[in-house]
Amino acid sequence: MATPIGNLMDITARALLVLARASLIACEDTRVTGKLLGHFGIVTRMLPYHDHNAGMMRPRLIAQALNEPVALVSDAGTPLISDPGYKLVAEARAAGVNVVTAPGPSAVIAALSIAGLPTDRFLFAGFLPAREKAKADVIAELANVPATLAFYESGPRLAATLTALRAGLGDRPAAVGRELTKKFEEMISGTLSELAARWADAPPKGEIVVLVGPPLPAPAATADELDSALREALTSLRVKDAARAVADRLGLPRAQVYARALALKDAARNG
Ligand code: SAM
Repeated sequence: MATPIGNLMDITARALLVLARASLIACEDTRVTGKLLGHFGIVTRMLPYHDHNAGMMRPRLIAQALNEPVALVSDAGTPLISDPGYKLVAEARAAGVNVVTAPGPSAVIAALSIAGLPTDRFLFAGFLPAREKAKADVIAELANVPATLAFYESGPRLAATLTALRAGLGDRPAAVGRELTKKFEEMISGTLSELAARWADAPPKGEIVVLVGPPLPAPAATADELDSALREALTSLRVKDAARAVADRLGLPRAQVYARALALKDAARNG
């Protein structure tokens, strides 16, 4: 279920029906959800469900959900996507509650739909850690993932995060989506270094999604690089093993590298 309050048209008719028919709405902030319900004339009772009271509220919400419809709403976007709810859903399903979805907007999907980066595979990594070392460690874990990477970020931290992504991933194509579905919506594309430079001195305002394209294909090794890697490998490995190791390291077809390894071995023997 989903609704940035700034744009009330983003809620689906199905979600409005779910909210109107619920006996209770669990929400992050009753003031935020209250505005939404007030706009649509929905009078369903609300109960706060957030990180600080979740453990206490879960048994109560699940007991009620076993008998009556209970809805879960987040302040914006889709619940559970960098928002509370995962334990509630897991425990409710384990208790036998029939949990259904009322899909709506989520910033990560909205960003992917207009960034022009590959969408056949993507990895949503939520918010990166704030501390430099922890951030670099997470980025290093993601460096070889063959997919577009998606992060949530805040304006003040954007430039530092883009710089850390550039350092850990290389200068990949990327895009920054800001205030999506809202008045000042924008999607800016560029390499990670271009984007980091753009906001280095003036952090942007508003809510932000950062997308980074998949790893760039390694530049093909030159013939000289192949020969020198093979000569070195052949000093300690058999032809077949040397060819396999070098082919994998340089990203070249094994058959091609094997043929070249044989030729070098022959040349060395005859020369
Ligand atoms: N549950 C939400 C969703 O489905 O997108 C995300 C909640 S998370 C606590 C809030 C973060 O999502 C923001 O800090 C920002 O990074 C991102 N975000 C939310 N709304 C956005 C928007 N309209 N444009 C860009 N990013 C947004």
